[in-house]
Amino acid sequence: MLLTQTVTKKLLETLVHETFTQFGNFSSSSLLDSLKLLGFYYATIAGISINIEDLKTPDTKKKFLENANFEIEKISKDWQQGFISDTERFQTIIDIWNIATESLKNRIIDYYQHFDPANNLYIMAFSGARGNISQVRQLVGMRGLMSDQEGKIIDLPIQTNFREGLSSIDYIISSYGARKGIVDTALKTADSGYLTRRLIYIAQDLVIRELNCGTTEGIIILLKKNSNIKNLIGRTLIYAKSQKNFFLQDLNLSLKEVDLIKLKKSAPVQLNVRSSLTCKSNGSICQKCYGWDLAQQKLISLGEAVGILAAQSIGEPGTQLTMRTFHTGGIFTGETTKQIFAPFSGKLILPSSLKTVSYRTNHGILVLKLQQESNLIILNWSGKQEEIFLNIGSYLYISTTQFVKKGQVIAEYSLRSFLTGTRKLKPIYTSLAGEIKFENLLVRKINHEKRTIKVNEDDGVLWIASGKIFPLPKEVKYLFPNTLNKKKAFAKLKIISPYSGFLRLTKTGLILICSKGKIKIDFDNLVKNIPNCSFKFSFITKNSQYIDSYTVLGFLELFSNDEGKIYSLRKKESFFITTFFIVIEADVWKINSDQINNFSFFETKKTIVRSGKILNTSSHLSRSGFFLKKDGFKMIFQHAIPIFLTRGTILKYKQGDFVFEKKVLATLINYTQQTEDIVQGLPKIEELIEARKPKNKAYLAFKPGIFLTDSLSQETIPEKFERKIEGKVIKCTTVETRKKITKVGKKKKKKHKLFGLGKVFI
Ligand SMILES: [Zn+2]
Repeated sequence: MLLTQTVTKKLLETLVHETFTQFGNFSSSSLLDSLKLLGFYYATIAGISINIEDLKTPDTKKKFLENANFEIEKISKDWQQGFISDTERFQTIIDIWNIATESLKNRIIDYYQHFDPANNLYIMAFSGARGNISQVRQLVGMRGLMSDQEGKIIDLPIQTNFREGLSSIDYIISSYGARKGIVDTALKTADSGYLTRRLIYIAQDLVIRELNCGTTEGIIILLKKNSNIKNLIGRTLIYAKSQKNFFLQDLNLSLKEVDLIKLKKSAPVQLNVRSSLTCKSNGSICQKCYGWDLAQQKLISLGEAVGILAAQSIGEPGTQLTMRTFHTGGIFTGETTKQIFAPFSGKLILPSSLKTVSYRTNHGILVLKLQQESNLIILNWSGKQEEIFLNIGSYLYISTTQFVKKGQVIAEYSLRSFLTGTRKLKPIYTSLAGEIKFENLLVRKINHEKRTIKVNEDDGVLWIASGKIFPLPKEVKYLFPNTLNKKKAFAKLKIISPYSGFLRLTKTGLILICSKGKIKIDFDNLVKNIPNCSFKFSFITKNSQYIDSYTVLGFLELFSNDEGKIYSLRKKESFFITTFFIVIEADVWKINSDQINNFSFFETKKTIVRSGKILNTSSHLSRSGFFLKKDGFKMIFQHAIPIFLTRGTILKYKQGDFVFEKKVLATLINYTQQTEDIVQGLPKIEELIEARKPKNKAYLAFKPGIFLTDSLSQETIPEKFERKIEGKVIKCTTVETRKKITKVGKKKKKKHKLFGLGKVFI
């Protein structure tokens, strides 16, 4: 092997491996010795260290950030105006930041490769000596998206790097994930250590005891042109078979790399190789079936504790094993998507008859899903033409024949046939109190697990029109004021005694001693459930006074916590409660009518306006709302928030309901992936090793004995009998392990049923 390139850690590994396989133990150890000397000598001379000036942030970083922020602003506007849902906004933001971080990382690699290949940081990270690409990115690029304590991604990334320094917000964002990391490492090591211990406990007595068990059984592996031959090296071959005939039958051949390369040339080949699963050796594994000891590159030696080796091999990666999913742009997450880009700028012609259904991506973009295979044609100005083939099930981003730019995404398709990801429910909370109004929502009631839920059948918008809600007891009289005032009551309750008797006043209420006994009225309890109000009690009677029936005892006055002119009032009556919905000054916004071009547009009521709507050439709206009324030269709008809900959202309220602040309005269902670690990913050790669920009961045998399965116990077995087991005659007695009494029919007949283990014979 002639080395004419930079020797990285990976290349060094290959070099040592080659030397070992070709020249054996002695040569490779002397090679390693001289490599060590060489390394130490030059490391001393070079004296590589790291300096803050080695960390160079690329100039293009600012531009990447600007682009990302611009796109996020656009998405946020769409969300505010109710065109995309909350989960779609979140997914898009995550993807935008991922793309930005990724492209910045590529810029860094590019820069070092072309302009500064002798940079100390670059040498360390890319030779594999210390650090990796992700750490370089955090040092000189941007730290990027962080996860919170639950493993969810925070949609605000850390835009700075360690070279520039972190702001206090950046620091706090990164602390959640960092703490989780520390806690997880502490927990994970304990868990995976226990797993290793249990595995070793089971497998410790598995030792190579035999040279050859002589079996002709094995497992069949199909060797293809692109198969990975690494896990076949060192296995003992039984036969190799091509499509027509057996061409290699050698029961003693341990497959070497050269053999496998030779076999691969005539691929596809069916290989039957011996395995530890098919070994016939009693209570152990034979040398031939085990194959090579991969550390020695030769047949395993007798007496090797392969059980412990296997247990350690499973246990070792447990500490490091983390399940991570990466988010990239597009409908599908991870490396399962293939996107088709326009090869050049030109006119994209769609076939006139194209069978499609519309589909909403998790970015909230409407695309077409192809129901048939199709060929699109792209045509250049100069007449250059190219065909683009699209598979069935592809998602088409372009809906009509139109002009496309070079590099524009035309379509994408999933490499996997199904969409993975766990089903997550995301509650949406109200940010203000108000009335619920639907726009294009189609709500159906569905019976789900013994209760009725309201489900949105089509994409649509739910509006919350701002206002103050006062659910008052029916007896309370509303006073119809013009403004809400903290000092002036807006509602009043007259307290009348139904009986005659003595009256005693307490701090929070009164007690009436009459012919019916003691009647206690607590005002605090009475008004406890009315929000946004304060109360005042005023008595016109004195303490310990005798009163006649139907005497007015006093008044309860209600004061609003909010103040302002009342613009609109609605009331809704139910059995005990009358709810007043009051729109005050704080719930409206106004614009001068000279700011609007199309004046008559607002004349009709129920007009919805969205923020960002252009009023005339110079201005646009900054808030959304419903047109309320015209007041002189002013147009008054009720402030409202649109919330986009995708199909399948579970709704908690119906049209016209009043809803308070910070209540769960609806539940979005989405299938986004999230980072998972070993604690969530591993099955419980008891489940894995004892093949049971820890929460279920285990049935243990009362006495030691020979266990026979259920099929045997169905025979009528006498209480005492003899059985020949391993050449010895053993006296047996039947003992039932557990009895379970089952009721059969109406007669309540008792029946013994074997449960769990079956019968134990002693
Ligand atoms: Zn064997």
